[in-house]
Amino acid sequence: MSEHVTHWIGGRAHEGPAGRTGDIYNPASGQVTGTVDLAGPDEVGAAVAAAAAAFPGWRDTSLSRRVQTLFRFRELLRANSDRLAALVSAEHGKVLSDARGEVARGLEVVDFACGIPHLLKGGYSENVSTGVDSYSILQPLGVVSGITPFNFPAMVPMWMFPVAIACGNTFVLKPSEKDPSASLLLAELWAEAGLPDGVFNVVHGDREAVDALLEHPDVAAVSFVGSTPIAGYVYRTAAEHGKRVQALGGAKNHMVVLPDADLDLAADSAVSAGFGSAGERCMAISAVAVVESVADDLLERIRERVARLRVGPGDDDRSEMGPLVTREHRDRVASYLESGVREGATLAVDGRIHPVLGGAPEGFWLGPSVLDHVGPRMSCYREEIFGPVLSMVRVGDYDEAVRLVNDNPYGNGTAIFTNDGGAARRFQNEIEVGMVGINVPVPVPMAYYSFGGWKQSLFGDSHAHGTEGVHFYTRTKTVTARWTDPGKRPEGGVNLGFPTNG
Ligand code: NAD
Repeated sequence: MSEHVTHWIGGRAHEGPAGRTGDIYNPASGQVTGTVDLAGPDEVGAAVAAAAAAFPGWRDTSLSRRVQTLFRFRELLRANSDRLAALVSAEHGKVLSDARGEVARGLEVVDFACGIPHLLKGGYSENVSTGVDSYSILQPLGVVSGITPFNFPAMVPMWMFPVAIACGNTFVLKPSEKDPSASLLLAELWAEAGLPDGVFNVVHGDREAVDALLEHPDVAAVSFVGSTPIAGYVYRTAAEHGKRVQALGGAKNHMVVLPDADLDLAADSAVSAGFGSAGERCMAISAVAVVESVADDLLERIRERVARLRVGPGDDDRSEMGPLVTREHRDRVASYLESGVREGATLAVDGRIHPVLGGAPEGFWLGPSVLDHVGPRMSCYREEIFGPVLSMVRVGDYDEAVRLVNDNPYGNGTAIFTNDGGAARRFQNEIEVGMVGINVPVPVPMAYYSFGGWKQSLFGDSHAHGTEGVHFYTRTKTVTARWTDPGKRPEGGVNLGFPTNG
């Protein structure tokens, strides 16, 4: 055991409850490297109380001071980004370059949040009626909470808390218990940046902690990112308890390849987007819907590239793909290779026999696999695999590809590969998916746009960060005001009619 990870409440470490802990693994060695406290209602209650106590002071802190704190946090984050990436890689397993990319994308949301004074400007209308002005102001909600998944332990929390805190809210983060350490470094950096105690808190835990947050009367809003079944549960439970909620769920992202596409670009993209982070990305390409006439050619190009992929520990510079997050998850992902073949697919590349460079045999390894001739009824197509398995679905033409994507219950990301601008334009219009790439396989929006899917990939109506994030973390108040000169009262006296403007 190398570490014990505990909560961060009111600006300091907070342990408990006694005897309820989870193991933290190094996925490349398969060994337990630490333990994490799993909060119950008492720890969650303490975190919410600390956030509630900090709220009045933070809400009333001037925008200039809030922004100065954000800028200091941004600089500390930049200075510590390698440290943060190393923590992510050690507990998640992803390679260091990928972990650095995750930190960089989170940092972009902090950059965005530094512009909060502009984003919080309301509107003002002079003389909506004679001598009457009307204006709107955006106010924070209070204590807001973020519940996040294992696959981006730094970036996904940073989709949420920089914007929430910039808007004047206080925050309770419940990160994934599988890779909890990144969130504590973020908490320490906030403290060093001068954020008042209690504005940012972290409670670790599992369902018990989540339920305590969802039911707590002093939590005003919940942002969730994770799998679809849990997103649906969080959405319903939080709404039932009167909270504002956005819950981003799972994905099954299709890459459509038309016959006129640049097939080398398509093959590079399918391999990068399918196997980056071992396929444990909600924007990973999972299904390649390729028009039959170019399917064999594309498969050959993908196969060549996959054979050259270097799989190994995340902290080894040679590695391009690391292990999976847990043994159970690795076994579950591998089971789709068997069920796929049983249900009629062809195993074109078998990741179970891919060489692993320098990894311990007990590590949670599974190399990149490709299933060909996958059909929409197979479980490897219907279910989210969330691992390094690319499914090739052969289609007759563009229309069949679009039907396939639109019939799929998920709608997170998709991409089309073509050199036909008209087809691409039609695709962006017709496709029922929240984030669309055109010759771009992982179309993750920049921080100043919003991130979110459609259908079963998002419950609620606001996406993360961008102006939708500001909208989610604020509520609008509209003031109608009359100031008259002393002694110059408006005429009319008592009038029980509905107010009209004039
Ligand atoms: P998960 O749903 O298992 O866990 C997410 C969070 O919910 C964690 O904090 C976890 O502790 C908590 N949780 C787990 N089980 C729970 C339960 N029964 N009740 C209450 N809370 C529970 O997801 P994961 O395995 O950590 O992450 C992978 C999933 O997240 C994939 O489905 C992936 O597509 C999805 N994801 C989606 C996006 C997106 O933007 N749409 C981004 C990243 C990941």
